[in-house]
Amino acid sequence: MGTQTATTTYEAVIGLEVHAQLKTVSKIFCGCSTKFGAPPNTQTCPICLGMPGVLPVLNRRVLELAVKTGLALHGKITPYSRFARKNYFYPDLPKGYQISQYELPICEHGYLEVAVNGQIKRIRIRRAHMEEDAGKNLHEGLDAASHVDLNRAGVPLLEIVTEPDIRSVDEAVAYLKTLRGVLVYLDVCDGNMEEGSLRCEPNLSLRPVGQKEFGTRVELKNINSFRFVQKAMEYELRRQEKLLREGGKVVQETRLWNTEKEVTIVMRGKEEAHDYRYFPEPDLVPLMIPADLIEEIRKGLPELPDAKRERFVREYGIPIYDAEVLTIDKDLARYFEACVELYAQPKTVSNWIMSELLRELNNSGQGIAECPIPPDRFTGLLKLIDNGTISGKIAKTVFEEMYRTGRAPEEIVKEKGLVQISDEGAIEALVDEVLQAHPGELASYRQGKSQLLGFFVGQVMKRSQGKANPGKVNELLKRKLDT
Ligand SMILES: [Zn+2]
Repeated sequence: MGTQTATTTYEAVIGLEVHAQLKTVSKIFCGCSTKFGAPPNTQTCPICLGMPGVLPVLNRRVLELAVKTGLALHGKITPYSRFARKNYFYPDLPKGYQISQYELPICEHGYLEVAVNGQIKRIRIRRAHMEEDAGKNLHEGLDAASHVDLNRAGVPLLEIVTEPDIRSVDEAVAYLKTLRGVLVYLDVCDGNMEEGSLRCEPNLSLRPVGQKEFGTRVELKNINSFRFVQKAMEYELRRQEKLLREGGKVVQETRLWNTEKEVTIVMRGKEEAHDYRYFPEPDLVPLMIPADLIEEIRKGLPELPDAKRERFVREYGIPIYDAEVLTIDKDLARYFEACVELYAQPKTVSNWIMSELLRELNNSGQGIAECPIPPDRFTGLLKLIDNGTISGKIAKTVFEEMYRTGRAPEEIVKEKGLVQISDEGAIEALVDEVLQAHPGELASYRQGKSQLLGFFVGQVMKRSQGKANPGKVNELLKRKLDT
């Protein structure tokens, strides 16, 4: 590290641990409900409360969902796997240990391919293992005391750990979004970060470009939105770079993201696996996963985002970028395909979805599932442009109205009198009005300032309230101006 200077360029090395809540009705080792939002401590029993003498029993569904995810992440499913106790003390963990997996996780050596700036990058996944969630400490309420809610204790999680293959915050965010897409496609996790169904813990370090060894890494804990993950990683890399440039040293530690001050703060010092005193969980038998069960689950896998992305590029001839945007959400992909079936111009459909539709969805905070415009009306609008009923510009206004009211495009066009004016006589009258109203510009045009044509077109369009057929306006104007 002694050779670094002010001109050293640093490279980020990032690994991500993601905790995904598996979508089961009951917890991993008992029959308690996993439903979100229940009053504190109403979904607990002696097993998930960690009472002495109780015995956990593995929920078969958890195993199936874990295998399904492992296969979708191109991982190797370990035929012999077992649970381990991870010992630590914290008020939200009444047993004093978490049942997790350690040296024999359910899945190893997978990967996920993500699109970053139109390029595909493969990020290796070291392992995925099943574990139970802990409870939650609540520091709210009027009594200034802390409370513990154990409804989450025993909720099934799959922890998915990458190799340190990620080299930028953009790549990390792309990985997270793609992973979330895969989990939702598989229907193994609802992907809801706000409700804690998907939590991310990045570890980050810097090293001078060209250096092989990794720098000292810092881990960021429990961040619950894409935006915060991005901000926290950006801040942390800036903090480390400043430290290194000033001749300081990065300390291995766990830090928290403070959403109000937008900084990371120290949570605790470094910890190693041996601090947890892992040992095989004696209350659960080791898992022997039959090959035919793995095969059966493999056969049931749906088409995943990466395969769908490739197919969209191949089948519809749209750019990788479009395919990426359209396939990251299963329902959006389905919407696109439903539209293309009714209107065979994929790139036009893609453009309208990516600009108009996604903007409206974003503005209203809705997902595609709540979209008030069904595919037949969406494509109905595009057909109105094609057959000359309305201009592309008016179509955007109609689209907004369709989104707001859920009504059919033909109805809106008719009611608001938005039908495009293609009648030559009507357009000619408008052209004459404009030329009369702007004698100065007309004279300049005739003296050779031909770029004024755009000005005249604009004026005619304005007078027609955007309804004149632009092609016809151009044609008539040229004819009048140049004679
Ligand atoms: Zn329970």
